[in-house]
Amino acid sequence: MDKVAVLFPLPLPEPFDYRAATSLGLQPGMHVIAPIGSRLVRGVVWSVEREHPGAANLKAIEEVLPGSPVPEMSRAFIDWAAKYLVRPPGDLVRMVVRSPEALFPPPTHTVIAPTGEPPPKLTEARKRVMEEAAKEHVSAAELARRAETSSAVVKGLVDCGALTKLEISEDPPFPPPDLSLSGKALSGLQQAAADEMCATVRAGGFHVALLDGVTGSGKTEVYLEAAAEALKLDSTAQVLVLLPEIALTQAAMSRFNARFGVTPVEWHSAIPQKARRRAWREIAAGRARLVVGARSALFLPYPNLKLIVIDEEHDSSYKQEEGVIYQARDLAVARAKLGDCMVILASATPSLETLVNAQSGRYAHVKLPARHGTAELPDVELVDLKIDAPEKGRWLSPKLIKGAAEALLRGEQSLFYMNRRGYAPLTLCKGCGHRMRSPDSDSWLVEHRYSGRLVCHLTGFSMPKPKECPECLAPDSFTSIGPGVERIEEEVRYFFPNARIEIFSSDTTPNGDAVRELVARMETNEIDILIGTQIVAKGHNFPNLTFVGVVDADLGLKGGDLRAGERTYQLVSQVAGRAGRHEKKGRALIQTYAPHEPVMQALLAQDRDAFFAAEIAEREAAGMPPYGRLAAVIVSAPDELLANDAAKLMGEKAPVVEGLDLWGPAPAPLSVIRGMHRRRFLIRANRGVDVSAFLAAWAGRVKLHSAVRVQIDVDPYSFL
Ligand code: ADP
Repeated sequence: MDKVAVLFPLPLPEPFDYRAATSLGLQPGMHVIAPIGSRLVRGVVWSVEREHPGAANLKAIEEVLPGSPVPEMSRAFIDWAAKYLVRPPGDLVRMVVRSPEALFPPPTHTVIAPTGEPPPKLTEARKRVMEEAAKEHVSAAELARRAETSSAVVKGLVDCGALTKLEISEDPPFPPPDLSLSGKALSGLQQAAADEMCATVRAGGFHVALLDGVTGSGKTEVYLEAAAEALKLDSTAQVLVLLPEIALTQAAMSRFNARFGVTPVEWHSAIPQKARRRAWREIAAGRARLVVGARSALFLPYPNLKLIVIDEEHDSSYKQEEGVIYQARDLAVARAKLGDCMVILASATPSLETLVNAQSGRYAHVKLPARHGTAELPDVELVDLKIDAPEKGRWLSPKLIKGAAEALLRGEQSLFYMNRRGYAPLTLCKGCGHRMRSPDSDSWLVEHRYSGRLVCHLTGFSMPKPKECPECLAPDSFTSIGPGVERIEEEVRYFFPNARIEIFSSDTTPNGDAVRELVARMETNEIDILIGTQIVAKGHNFPNLTFVGVVDADLGLKGGDLRAGERTYQLVSQVAGRAGRHEKKGRALIQTYAPHEPVMQALLAQDRDAFFAAEIAEREAAGMPPYGRLAAVIVSAPDELLANDAAKLMGEKAPVVEGLDLWGPAPAPLSVIRGMHRRRFLIRANRGVDVSAFLAAWAGRVKLHSAVRVQIDVDPYSFL
């Protein structure tokens, strides 16, 4: 009898033990069903002790499931990540086994195909059926429909041997990439970068390279060469490319398709269940060799992952902020280290952490300093809003209006960037000053004029805009304070009544199809002026876009957390980088009230390195990441007193560790979300301190009321 430890996709602290007959031959990674209490639950075998004397007293494994086992590397990654993130390992195994149906052989359906034998008697109906059957293999009913005859005719042809039934898998394997194809002819600089990457791929083992190239320099072309090299070198190698936005996958897919003759396997939250099942099965079996996905694709059970590319590695969407909180870029590097894999981090504006690693030599630093072909970087100018002020009640300065007007006259496109959805961030009553707040969260309701609703961007709560003030009952007394994209659109329409104007935000493009449609219209010049949130900053290539106006560059600096300057630089320079990506020269105007801030001066001079050098020096002096470690602990409860008491108790129980500072508890800046009152601790530690071990020890010391939630965020990006 074997003793078998099973890890369940549940928030349990460790695997549970079961017995299984040795003859079953259970191995770690296999999928099983086993009882927990009175329930039968699917889990993954984590370890097996053969012929264990104590096993007889354990409950038995109920069933062994088919399906590719979770590879050893994935299991090691789960164990590591659970420890690092201070999460129950079951929460992570849930992210690996994402499609239970994929454990079973794919369903099949029956189609009809010609055998090559001519039918003995050829009636008109039979002739039509044979013609249709030669075109495509479809079901008997469909074939009869296409041939405009009855199923009996089809059946007759099967019976006489002219047609036959075939069982077709609903999830056939994906066609493999065609490695005989070659990519675009690379420029000298691109070729040198590609050669360096390919040499690293050939050397094998764990390596991280930063592919640091300005927007439009051809980073994608270069990493495609590295991907091709990895796939050629080892006939079972798998390559994963992570992209920050699902919306970007389609453009990327067609470029991959051009390079490899096949569409890569896609993985993100929006793929339908059937596609998910097929992708999971093929990835786990090692047959899917090229995968493009969002951050969650990192957790899939690749048996032989050799290269991970993280495009736009600085992008904030790599940080998952709900459920299991993790930074996919950092976890990718950790996974690669465990599995002798190479990582390419591509960006025009790398994160400060990555840049420090590249400068210190821990990561290779491969540069692409120029745009491809004749395209040049745009001219950037700052607009000091204290001097070039917009008219009262408006947000666009005369300079911005002029810039867009000139582009319009030349028949070129403009982009106004405003990183706030909706019409206005605040709605207040002119009569009594009442501000419209979210009912269960500490945030203002944002007015959305298109939908006529007030929306909480934190929780998604929304309500129709009331006709009268709920406080003083004055009718029609609301005024909208501050701009969002919808308000900028209103203003742009006022100045350019005949232009074709669109908004690009997650509200106007709620899904991939809508994004594709809008991007296509922009590419084919059916839009003159686009007004967008940060969704426009990412990766799009609009050949005729030559003017970019940043409406409020200061927005991201407000509330100033650790990365406010860095993020502002990244976003604004990425947005400015949308201008003039082809032959036409681009121009970007950046509106700010703080033109002398280092970040604005750096944007003006397009001197990323000087700005980052100053930021790096500040972080080093303060012992902030990457020179120190941070973690956040958020204690929340449905009741304010309970939250306070729990936070106080946690504060008292914190272990004292040398080289580690604990700040808090303090009310979180967003002190109530969905009715939960939130208190925060921030932990800063010197680099050598094991912050995860500290957090685990701390959590183990405190017994809290069952209504209290404790959320641990290792390497926090949000400080709200
Ligand atoms: P990045 O990823 O650095 O922003 P891309 O790889 O998207 O840059 O390249 C920008 C544009 O230039 C794309 O349209 C791409 O097809 C084109 N391009 C880049 N390199 C080449 C090349 N060697 N030959 C032809 N077109 C290229």
